[in-house]
Amino acid sequence: MPHKKIPMEHDKKIALVAHDNKKRDLVEWAKFNRDLLAHHQVFATGTTGKILEQELGFKIVKLKSGPLGGDQQIGAKIVEGKIDFLIFFWDPLEPQPHDPDVKALLRMAVVWNIPIANNRASADFMISSPLMDGEYDRLVPDYENYTSRKVNLGDKPN
Ligand code: PGA
Repeated sequence: MPHKKIPMEHDKKIALVAHDNKKRDLVEWAKFNRDLLAHHQVFATGTTGKILEQELGFKIVKLKSGPLGGDQQIGAKIVEGKIDFLIFFWDPLEPQPHDPDVKALLRMAVVWNIPIANNRASADFMISSPLMDGEYDRLVPDYENYTSRKVNLGDKPN
């Protein structure tokens, strides 16, 4: 499939999300990396964002709480090219009321080739990558073939 290049600028738009049992992990990680995060634009789901803003002391764009649609808002921003990175510490040991939204968000990140980190080790590798500090062309499959496909509507009724 052909690809399109989508440039990522030096200052990136990063979405941070953590399920309740993973919020402490994310807060510790974000505090450790505070200065690296501070010069990017940070988005978060409601509760995660409120806690991070208190702990980090800089402005975070807070969306709705995850179970109330925040995951879907982040997914929509990925589709619109308004999020470059997703750091999402989801809880593998507890079912969530919004599990379908979690799955949808992870799927959108893959559809649009967004870097995602789902645990602390991956987030460490991501934030310390030399690619974080420069411009980067993200390759996104050109979905033109898909959107212009012929759809069989069956026989016309008489
Ligand atoms: P929250 O949502 O930050 O509002 O707790 C996180 C999530 O479950 O997606």
